[in-house]
Amino acid sequence: MKENLNPFAIAQAQLDEAAAVLQLDPDMHAFLREPMREFHFTIPVRMDDGRTQTFKGFRVQYNDARGPAKGGIRFHPDETIDTVRALAAWMTWKTAVSDIPLGGGKGGVICNPRELSQGELERLSRGYMRNIARHIGITQDVPAPDVNTNPQIMAWMLDEYETLMGWHEPGVITGKPLPLGGSQGRTPATALGGLFTIREAARVKGMTLNDTTCAIQGYGNVGGNAHQLAAQFGLKVVAVSDEFGAIYNAHGLDPKVVSEHVRRTGKVINCPETEEISNSELLELPVEILIPAAIENQLTGQNADRVKAKIVAELANGPTTPEADNILNDKGVYIIPDFLCNAGGVIVSYFEMVQNGYQFYWDEGMVTERLDRKITTAFQAVDAMSLSKKVDTRVAAYLVAVDRVAEAVRLRGWV
Ligand code: NAD
Repeated sequence: MKENLNPFAIAQAQLDEAAAVLQLDPDMHAFLREPMREFHFTIPVRMDDGRTQTFKGFRVQYNDARGPAKGGIRFHPDETIDTVRALAAWMTWKTAVSDIPLGGGKGGVICNPRELSQGELERLSRGYMRNIARHIGITQDVPAPDVNTNPQIMAWMLDEYETLMGWHEPGVITGKPLPLGGSQGRTPATALGGLFTIREAARVKGMTLNDTTCAIQGYGNVGGNAHQLAAQFGLKVVAVSDEFGAIYNAHGLDPKVVSEHVRRTGKVINCPETEEISNSELLELPVEILIPAAIENQLTGQNADRVKAKIVAELANGPTTPEADNILNDKGVYIIPDFLCNAGGVIVSYFEMVQNGYQFYWDEGMVTERLDRKITTAFQAVDAMSLSKKVDTRVAAYLVAVDRVAEAVRLRGWV
């Protein structure tokens, strides 16, 4: 039978599995399977050539029982409402497993940012904000960057929001540039948080990280920063990739050389002293640690049995299908599930909101130390749940998170 790769169907199936183990009340289960609110809108954008192009935008507030919805905005040509729903559901579980007082949301625009000029991108970003401004805010829903969005786009969106409202409210969006109230350490936070969880997973597996081989799929904010920071954690990155291809060097890839090459050419391929391989070969390399840091559905029923890594650290959201999950678990691979592994971004976004609220800013050392403490505590809760309930790590992460969200829903009297 063909695998169902609809991300929202996958997110719901993962919840169903956890609900069965938790013996979750059926009414609660039905409520948690669906987003609480969705906004669908069209954004007319004046293009540089004088035409007006209409884009489709979404914002999903999946669940806000534990606090304001929180989640990034993705600009992608293949964006669908079901991708946004899945990502919003995962944000709900991510904020809960991290034990930060926020709910889950996500946004998206169907567009190809590579085909837009800076001016068009700015008008699209401002148009997106005009559509959702009255539905978001520090007490309702706080967006952030995701795939193909960045601090500059957050700055335009913040400015549009504050212009519409007539007051300053930097905490309405996170991942901002530092001069507009961004947090130190936000840009590398997702990658750094993931590396802290790899350190913990290695400890659980009794592995010492020392020149330990690692492959990273995706070379954007998350994958690129993971490469820059990997050596500090005893990892030797031998392969990296982006949507155009992958590169390999058994002796390790110098992060400075690769990032400079990407800055100049926009791609990882043809980087000096590397051999070109395919993205599928990268996933199957004989490395100890595999870091998917690109997009959904990369490890599937088709390739999971050829994965050789001992630890799969899901820095991307939804990189592993349920069928691949079963195969990897049967092989004894330690999976650090996405909404735990990549929680560093939202944890530091939460720190950014706190700093904006107090108008008092921390240094990077303080951010890093608090991030380490938060994500390590979350990792340990999940690992302990996995051992006590004898379930795999993804189900364990769901048990921790769903239980917390369900408790908040119950206390509010919604179900
Ligand atoms: P990005 O746009 O900065 O980078 C994405 C990278 O993936 C690019 O290098 C792109 O070329 C590559 N890519 C796209 N399709 C690919 C394919 N088929 N094969 C190989 N590479 C491919 O995005 P990002 O912010 O780094 O996000 C990456 C993943 O991490 C996404 O799943 C995102 O949801 C997740 N994530 C990001 C953050 C964050 O703070 N940015 C936080 C949590 C989770």
